[in-house]
Amino acid sequence: MAPTNGGASPFLISGGGIGGLATAFALAREGIPVRLFEQSPEFREVGAGIQLGPNIFRVLEKWGLKDAVLADAHIPPAQEMRDALTGKLITRIPLGAEFSARFNNQPYGVTHRADIHATLLKACQSSNLITLETSRRVDGFEQNGNGVTVSLENGERAQGRALIGCDGMWSSIRERIVGDGKPRVSGHIAYRAVLQRKDVPDDLWRPDVVLWAGPRSHFVHYPLRRGELYNLVAVFHSDHYEEGWNAEGSKEVMWQHFKMQVPPVLRLLERIETWRMWVLCDREPVKNWSEGRVTLLGDAAHPMLQYLAQGACMAAQNATVLAEKVAANPDDPAAAFQAYQQARYLRTGRTQIMARFYGEFYHARGVAAELRDMALSGRSPQQSYDGIEWLYGGQ
Ligand SMILES: Cc1cc2nc3c(=O)[nH]c(=O)nc-3n(C[C@H](O)[C@H](O)[C@H](O)COP(=O)(O)OP(=O)(O)OC[C@H]3O[C@@H](n4cnc5c(N)ncnc54)[C@H](O)[C@@H]3O)c2cc1C
Repeated sequence: MAPTNGGASPFLISGGGIGGLATAFALAREGIPVRLFEQSPEFREVGAGIQLGPNIFRVLEKWGLKDAVLADAHIPPAQEMRDALTGKLITRIPLGAEFSARFNNQPYGVTHRADIHATLLKACQSSNLITLETSRRVDGFEQNGNGVTVSLENGERAQGRALIGCDGMWSSIRERIVGDGKPRVSGHIAYRAVLQRKDVPDDLWRPDVVLWAGPRSHFVHYPLRRGELYNLVAVFHSDHYEEGWNAEGSKEVMWQHFKMQVPPVLRLLERIETWRMWVLCDREPVKNWSEGRVTLLGDAAHPMLQYLAQGACMAAQNATVLAEKVAANPDDPAAAFQAYQQARYLRTGRTQIMARFYGEFYHARGVAAELRDMALSGRSPQQSYDGIEWLYGGQ
């Protein structure tokens, strides 16, 4: 990994979430210097679980970070879907050896967001090509044929060869490039909580990713951090809107949507005192998210609902493609960014659209729910794998 452009003007990145850190690391691996600005006073992820498909593990392996991520993760033996009104098993998809063999010898893992974020942060900190700066909000940018100048909140200006907006769902850089206003409110809200293992009754603790599908709602749980924690996410339909990912959610409101569900669901929900709330949003897929020497990545480029558990996976895949395109054309970032988005917009657009569809599927009622159960319950593991090949097997 000899630097090819060590003395060159850096690529600037706005945002130090999973997408920004992954991009910084991917570029540095190609010898490209990076200066990353994060608006918060420290690099951190709000606490909750994240599922990692085989497609992100391929990227992590290439980066030499797979073992570090696996060291904190939990590998669930299966994904299960159950009917939240009857408790009946709808489908069980094994995630063991057969699954890995099908998807490039990569696992399916679940981890704490803070853990994968910390692994990426450490990897970035160990690179002498990456400068990480906190309490630095990017307020604007200008570009010409030679480079980009960003203005920071304290009035400072920073110059670089190009700018990558990894500034999330409410990206101000996207607003300049795409100009599609606020995200689309899906009408679904996620409440999340993390329990210590000791606080989960033994008969409720399951090593699998379990999804309880209910009318206009679903509830997911799985272990985290080598099984020391238990992640709970309850999703239901609501018109509530609030920006950000960390507001406190009302237990009473949540309870109204779940009170008719089976005892294992209710007993787990009852154990949570404080819920954190995400109002779930996405955007319409777009074909162009670049303008000259400025591009977008992660939720800034292709924000999606979480129903396929792919937002962070797609961000990491994009980071590796972006870095390859820049390495192939280091003196022409605008051309490299066009090549990057050309390679990625259909795949991320498909994932954005399919994630919406999966949300409807999980929350089906009446006849639609019966049809869903019929379609899923007869499937063999191989048929389940076939259905998701486009996502986990794809680049
Ligand atoms: C409920 C839920 C469950 C999910 N589950 C999964 C899952 O199982 N698997 C999966 O792969 N994905 C999942 N996702 C999606 C995933 O969390 C996101 O796609 C991913 O975290 C996006 O990362 P990002 O870096 O693009 O954006 P963010 O994580 O939003 O990071 C953006 C960063 O930019 C900073 N920033 C913003 N504006 C500025 C500015 N002007 N200047 C400087 N810094 C700025 C912010 O402070 C933040 O640190 C889930 C999402 C939700 C809501």
